[in-house]
Amino acid sequence: MPEDRIRYFDHSATTPTHPDVVAAMLPYFTEHFGNPSSLYGIAEESREAIARARSQVAAAIGATPEEIFFTAGGTESDNWAIKGIAHAHRDRGDHIITTAIEHHAVLHTCAFLEEQGFSVTYLPVDREGRVDPAAVRDAITDHTILVTVMTANNEVGTVQPIREIGAIAREHGIPFHTDAVQAIGNLELDVDEDNIDLLSLSGHKFYGPKGIGALYIKNGTKIANLIHGGGQERGRRAGTENLPGVVGLGAAIERACTDIPAHAARLAGLRDRLLAGIMEGIPDVTLNGHPTERLPGNINLSFGGIDGEALLTLLAMKGICASTGSACSSGSDAPSHVLLAIGTSPQRARASLRLTLGDLTADEDVDYLLALLPGAVEKLRRLSGAGA
Ligand SMILES: *Cc1c(COP(=O)(O)O)cnc(C)c1O
Repeated sequence: MPEDRIRYFDHSATTPTHPDVVAAMLPYFTEHFGNPSSLYGIAEESREAIARARSQVAAAIGATPEEIFFTAGGTESDNWAIKGIAHAHRDRGDHIITTAIEHHAVLHTCAFLEEQGFSVTYLPVDREGRVDPAAVRDAITDHTILVTVMTANNEVGTVQPIREIGAIAREHGIPFHTDAVQAIGNLELDVDEDNIDLLSLSGHKFYGPKGIGALYIKNGTKIANLIHGGGQERGRRAGTENLPGVVGLGAAIERACTDIPAHAARLAGLRDRLLAGIMEGIPDVTLNGHPTERLPGNINLSFGGIDGEALLTLLAMKGICASTGSACSSGSDAPSHVLLAIGTSPQRARASLRLTLGDLTADEDVDYLLALLPGAVEKLRRLSGAGA
């Protein structure tokens, strides 16, 4: 019998917009449609809504509203942070430090800058996906103009020691950027305590709308514009504001950051039960990433003797949404750069399964998956002749 209920284990790919967030946005498509740059009453309402959202985003990360700039999402924020710092500091140097496990929004931006003559150090990570802060210190040269290290990895969930890394960058007077897209709502962040100069976030990863995000830019940071045009966002990010999106981003981040410990504890409880059940019920499976320093809703596994895509297909037929690595690299045949960087063999990297839990995950979904997964893995192993 076909399953009609969707069991969603892919919250790191995207999340549904929360109904309260949608409700907050709706008036800004219709009655409050004024262009914030215009000079009449309905424009004033739009300006106020944007100011409110800017305060909501700022409050969630310990910033001030003037330090928040709205963008079209995590990818744009990463591009702006990296290209903007690179271009504004070209006279000081041409060296960027990042890691081998960043999201492609960071890695491909760095590769583009290499084509423009910048040099980039891609720091390795250990078997659990952690960057050693001492390696950041050792990589710094007189020409280093930016350190960019993600807060938490989107594939294996490993959380980085960003506070220490930020402190090292600050000691050397080098701006520190972090892609915190996966961290918002899951980990408590404070840009001052965590020594962050630039931070990227994206609405659709924390129950807000897609196509809206923000870049935090610490006051006094010299950075070039990425998008040129009109004078919006105090002349730093042109284009008529995505008013409903901005309102949605503000509502979503306020909601997601209201009680992070409770949210994280619920997810970690479900995750630990799911992981224990998998480890007990399936032979030859390894957990990728850090055992404890990881996102509360992330499980990333490698199975001996199966193909990850085949497993996903079997699971999809039973109504289960999961992924192999990141949504962005699915469809390409290359094994995950993150799994390779933590020392996983190409074969085991292709035999991976990422389960990311969130608001849609209930106890019964965990039961359902636990009832199904051992049989699915066994079936694939039998078909490939690899297992007993
Ligand atoms: C999803 C994601 C992005 C990209 O954000 P978009 O808003 O989808 O452009 C960047 N970095 C990380 C770590 C992500 O998980």
